[in-house]
Amino acid sequence: MRAFPSDLFAGSRFAVLGLGRNGAAVVSALLAMGAEVQAWDDKAPPGPNDFARDGNAARFIAAPLEDLTGFEALILSPGIPHHLPAPHPVALLAQQAGVPVLSDAEILYRAVRKAGSLARFASVTGTNGKSTTTALLAHMLEKARVPVAAGGNLGTASLALPLLPDEGVYVIEMSSYMLERLESFHASTACLLNLTPDHLDRHGTMAGYASAKRHVFDNMTPRDLAVIGVDDAPCCAQAQELIAKGLTVTLVSVDNPDTVRGISAALEEAPALPGKHNLQNALVAQAMARHLGLSDEMITDGLRSYPGLPHRQALAASIDGIRFINDSKATNAEAAEKALLCYDRIIWIAGGIAKSGGIQALAPLFDRIAKAYLIGRDAPLLRETLETHGVACESVETLEAATMASLETAKALGVPVVLLSPACASFDQFASFEARGAHFIDILSRLDRVDARRETGSP
Ligand code: ADP
Repeated sequence: MRAFPSDLFAGSRFAVLGLGRNGAAVVSALLAMGAEVQAWDDKAPPGPNDFARDGNAARFIAAPLEDLTGFEALILSPGIPHHLPAPHPVALLAQQAGVPVLSDAEILYRAVRKAGSLARFASVTGTNGKSTTTALLAHMLEKARVPVAAGGNLGTASLALPLLPDEGVYVIEMSSYMLERLESFHASTACLLNLTPDHLDRHGTMAGYASAKRHVFDNMTPRDLAVIGVDDAPCCAQAQELIAKGLTVTLVSVDNPDTVRGISAALEEAPALPGKHNLQNALVAQAMARHLGLSDEMITDGLRSYPGLPHRQALAASIDGIRFINDSKATNAEAAEKALLCYDRIIWIAGGIAKSGGIQALAPLFDRIAKAYLIGRDAPLLRETLETHGVACESVETLEAATMASLETAKALGVPVVLLSPACASFDQFASFEARGAHFIDILSRLDRVDARRETGSP
């Protein structure tokens, strides 16, 4: 894989606001491509030598963005709004100066084309399943020996991806924030998995959210392929609109036996894609992969060997025949529902910072829970809901206590699965859902060692 030419953006000036993971990757990449970059971060102001590697310091200006005249674009971190709920003052300055506000995915697209590569782009959006579908499609392509680079909203930042040759494919996971900041970005295939209310603070209404997502299909022609999961009403409306515009659209439904048939045997053998929600992800990835030239055999091969993503219904340990599933990524009730649906009888570990509505929506699945152990700030709230429905539960505060107690109870009651699928955000006790999942794995590995010692009789 090649690096981008070091003079690609020579003579261009870019402004970057927000120097988190994405912003820092944007600055490094633009400097390496020869651009001049002025960057700022309100919370963690940069120093003049922060990007001094490779002799790029002379083109880096660490200063607040007070005048955007003459800049090619302003790149805002995904967390900084340029529209709702209120535009950041620097975004307003850009608008006044006629400077476009762009996302890093747009800059990647421009850089790839400017470097002369015809590599294609596949973009993935939707409310749920984006990371899984992105990783799955990338895995299928990789198995089929197509040069591939995947990233975006999650994983590697778009501008940290390498330059791919003409036959390569970029698989980009796009959040709705990124989608509002595209201009020339043209996907050969793009999907919309599903649309349920999420991030409405940033998009005002469901219609606003849907219209942000719609940008994923901008610039597409009838030779490209749009793939839409039509198991919810907003997505169906979106599909109708695209068909009316003359685009080529593949509709995917988990309830359509015709589409499911071709994939179901392989999915049964796919260890990392349990549940109906993953059927949606797999069907969408299949349609996109076909469009990108993969044979059905390559696709099923990719499904079977897909290793899964960490913290999403991943098998964390097996102790005494009891399977411990790490689904720490389930930060709301909707995501936890998908995991609960996959097991008939579980010990459930949940809790943290609950989203509005708590776990009320999960009531139809409560009969699967032999016992629940609740942790974190909103344990009392979850406990109230569970007790109202007669579910055995206990507040234990920490994940450690919950894990220990779960093992004992699972053994005593003969329950085969302990599921950490918290239905809550992690920030009261952990830095992130990843840290929560990693802690669970760590506790289990210590438990496993204790257990092994007990079995072998060693001290
Ligand atoms: P995202 O990147 O959109 O947040 P992930 O692929 O990381 O999605 O999956 C996050 C959680 O969302 C999963 O643990 C699962 O509970 C749920 N999920 C995954 N795919 C789907 C889908 N197609 N429909 C609904 N929920 C899903």
